[in-house]
Amino acid sequence: MSDSQEMKYDTSILHRGADRDPYTGGLSIPIYNASTYHQKDVTGKQEFEYGRSGNPTRKALEETLAALEHGSNGYAFASGMAAITTALLAFLKAGDHLIAPRDIYGGTYRLLTKLLVNFNIAHTFVDGTDLHAVEGAILPNSKVLFLESPSNPLLRVTDIKASVALAKKHGLLTMIDNTFLSPYFLRPLDLGVDISIHSATKFLGGHSDLIAGAVMTRTPELGASIYSIQNMCGSMLGLQDSWLLLRGIKTLSARMNAQQNSAQRVAEWLRKQSWVTDVYYPGLPSHPGYQIIKEQASGFGAVISCTVDTTERALRIMRNAKLWTVAVSLGGVESIMSYPCRMSHAAIPLPEREALGITDRLIRLSVGLEDAQDLIEDLAKSAL
Ligand SMILES: *Cc1c(COP(=O)(O)O)cnc(C)c1O
Repeated sequence: MSDSQEMKYDTSILHRGADRDPYTGGLSIPIYNASTYHQKDVTGKQEFEYGRSGNPTRKALEETLAALEHGSNGYAFASGMAAITTALLAFLKAGDHLIAPRDIYGGTYRLLTKLLVNFNIAHTFVDGTDLHAVEGAILPNSKVLFLESPSNPLLRVTDIKASVALAKKHGLLTMIDNTFLSPYFLRPLDLGVDISIHSATKFLGGHSDLIAGAVMTRTPELGASIYSIQNMCGSMLGLQDSWLLLRGIKTLSARMNAQQNSAQRVAEWLRKQSWVTDVYYPGLPSHPGYQIIKEQASGFGAVISCTVDTTERALRIMRNAKLWTVAVSLGGVESIMSYPCRMSHAAIPLPEREALGITDRLIRLSVGLEDAQDLIEDLAKSAL
């Protein structure tokens, strides 16, 4: 770990967190497969006592996660959903209420509507990009404003600073699902958000080879609340995957830049096709969130959604595509094409889904590291 404050962000990815094994100097932090540790003084406290509560491999990862997002603390979880669940349970109790965007990730939708309601934790879904609607949804028992930006799958952009100001005015805690931009393009804690959450399965891991989640906090006090639930519920990330995630993070800057450049090219190409009726990519100046995202983030990410003219066309593209893998998930080095109405957003009832624009003509594209021209040609051929 370096003390230099002048380090550029790309350098900090490799050197701001735990960059060497403190024991050997190794550039890869070893996997410490210990469930328990010898206690030298049984009446005292030591850093590592039991694997659920702490482990050197996970600690290295968690320090790296905190550094990536300029957070006071970082925590690694068994999945993005474990991270979201832990963050919500750490700050909500029976009788509380939260506000969340309507086009939220399908799994978060399920968590709020099927599980938290059983514990008398209520929610209101609003258009997160409409601050008047957000303010109108605030109740006396509201405790959390949950954001997701750009949202999944329509890439709607929320004004984060304005949302934080509104939340502060009403005494709400702010949380954001920052999976889509990754810390590389958006560091919400710098904008005043209290808790930032990731499905590290996506861009942070980057190689479609693990399921993981992350929570970063703005202050040590918020961090202590997250740690307490992580330790209580045992939702932390395992050690093999902690190591794999540390390895994936090392190439975050190279991946994000290359994938974003290709995404921009694919989005611009899609816009010109007669069979494409809408392109949702915040890097297009025609996107309604273009100005806001330019101000609050350093990039637009590598996820694009588009609506095509007919359901048949959508299905044909997915059946014919060769380079694009038809799958759920996003953020890996391989390009993935998904069908939100049948995959990630199948949990949202049909009328609500249609009203949101998540129709059976909507395809989501996660652009990987293949040559952009190859990806475009594959789309062109598949669509015909
Ligand atoms: C994938 C995803 C999640 C859930 O993460 P898992 O690692 O699959 O549990 C949450 N939010 C967003 C935006 C996602 O894309």
